Amino acid sequence: MTGYRLFGAPRQYIQGPGLVDRLAELTAGHGNYPLLVVDEFVLTELGARLTASFDERGTDYGVLPCAGEVTRTNIAAHVTRVADRAYDVVVGIGGGKTLDLAKGIAIEFDAAMITCPTIASNDGPTARVAAIYNDDHVLCELGKLEFNPSCVVVDSELISRAPVQFLISGIGDAIAKKFEAEGCRLGTGATMQGTRPLEIGGIVAAGCYEVLARHATEAVESVQKSTLTPAVESVIEAVVLMSGIGYENGGLSIAHCMTRGLMSGRGTRSVLHGYHVAYGLLVQLVLERHRDDVFDEVAGLLRAIGLPTMLADMGMTDASATEIRELAAAAMTAPHVLNTPAHVTEETLVDAITRVEYLARH
Ligand SMILES: [Zn+2]
Repeated sequence: MTGYRLFGAPRQYIQGPGLVDRLAELTAGHGNYPLLVVDEFVLTELGARLTASFDERGTDYGVLPCAGEVTRTNIAAHVTRVADRAYDVVVGIGGGKTLDLAKGIAIEFDAAMITCPTIASNDGPTARVAAIYNDDHVLCELGKLEFNPSCVVVDSELISRAPVQFLISGIGDAIAKKFEAEGCRLGTGATMQGTRPLEIGGIVAAGCYEVLARHATEAVESVQKSTLTPAVESVIEAVVLMSGIGYENGGLSIAHCMTRGLMSGRGTRSVLHGYHVAYGLLVQLVLERHRDDVFDEVAGLLRAIGLPTMLADMGMTDASATEIRELAAAAMTAPHVLNTPAHVTEETLVDAITRVEYLARH
């Protein structure tokens, strides 16, 4: 499909405080018979708030509490519990794993998908794909909905009250997209749509970076106090909508390649995706030989927000040469490794990681 330009985005996006109380009305245009796939913990926390609007409207609906990893086995187990009904729209409510499980279930039902994230830790809510792992917790495939979610419902009040590290992760995931789209444009690879990057992908990703550079620090401070401010609203839009559209149509690059090894590295395995991406972005900037002032601006921004600028910040203290080589080798297995103008080999990646570690200390 490299001769085509294919644009993907959610059909509708709505963001604001208190939207979980209006889920029935927001779902109505997308299907008649909704299945709410809800994280068990969220179900306990929000309880009747999630279903009240459906009861008031007299909508026939199902509720499927969900838990566990996003594996083929777990998706099948959840589908079995509701397979006797013909749901035509799946509403995923929870964090990243819940939304990916819900996407897996929507694929099985051939149903429309609505995402309602309760944290903003990455761009998953707008994305067409779900990251599916094998039983050994290794990323093994990307489940694909036929289209992006029909609707993304973002209750900004809920998100502003969640622990701040989720929003920080979302910012880390989003801040890299400008450089990743640029890398993809100058490289030879493809976007998630399987086509060469679109202009609009790069423009939205660059805009996403602008919004974060302006508002991210203030937004993090607000969420630390569980306060919803205009800066938080802008950052949520950048993290969920702009980051999603930017990467699906602009492409991923080295920053995301680096998450492969960090996912299972010593210490690094216990931090969220966006922290990996933020560190990966610094590696990409060095590898692509960006100017020093660009590197310094990004590193300063990451530090101000509480994102890592060296492996020790994620728990990999005194990384050995073997550990650094393992990170480089894992990054080489990602398909986005072609999405950069830089010469990428295990060796050049080892050098770039080593350089980032040096710069963080000096
Ligand atoms: Zn990501």
